[in-house]
Amino acid sequence: MTGTPTTPTLTLVHLYPREMNIYGDTGNVLVLRRRLQWRDLPVTVVPVSVGDPMPADADILLGGGGQDAAQGDIGADFVGRGAELRAMADDGVVMLAICGSFQMLGHEFVTHEGRRIEGVGVLDVVTHGQRERLIGNNWVDTAGELDAGRLVGYENHSGLTTLGSDARPLGRTQTGRGNNGRDRTEGAVRDNVIGTYLHGPVLAKSPRFADELLQRAYRRRGADVELAPLDDTLPLQAATVAAGRPR
Ligand code: GLN
Repeated sequence: MTGTPTTPTLTLVHLYPREMNIYGDTGNVLVLRRRLQWRDLPVTVVPVSVGDPMPADADILLGGGGQDAAQGDIGADFVGRGAELRAMADDGVVMLAICGSFQMLGHEFVTHEGRRIEGVGVLDVVTHGQRERLIGNNWVDTAGELDAGRLVGYENHSGLTTLGSDARPLGRTQTGRGNNGRDRTEGAVRDNVIGTYLHGPVLAKSPRFADELLQRAYRRRGADVELAPLDDTLPLQAATVAAGRPR
């Protein structure tokens, strides 16, 4: 569907595009932007780096993964935005935080070397690093949490994440290790805030998830926008190849 004159322009905020962008996570921003453009729906992308102001009209915030060192580099700036990020989460802003950004939306990430990187407490999760990394493709069953169903991506992390009582898991890991390799939980959700370990970028192989994020953002703005179907043959094929077989 093409946008009507009342269709709001969605503002996508790309957090720390230089520091927090590994395993293709910037692709999540590109996927959302393109899925809007293909439908002639208006969109603005605003990169926010260390020291930059946060746009007041953010609809969707996207943060990628990073090395422990990169997380340390942006740490003070990120924690300085804590009150603002918590207010945005309370206000229903859609957030997709991958791996390192997911960890930092939680309370803390203690690296495997014992360095503490403070989080902002948007998500009730804590993360502790270990020497062994959890690496590989993963597919996650989000039944009951998302309409999108299966999410497919790639994980590579040393941090093991444990959910507190105020966070629900995004789903159950089927082929990978998920939050901690122990309880088969993957990611975390509260309101419109979603954290996950899935890189890849996850939205390129999970097109229904991409549209679900867009719909959540429109709903929050009170806009009734019907998303016209797109040809998702290629992303779904890629997802099937990457998903492998459940364990
Ligand atoms: N540095 C973090 C970890 O190893 C996050 C890694 C990532 O974003 N892929 O757990």
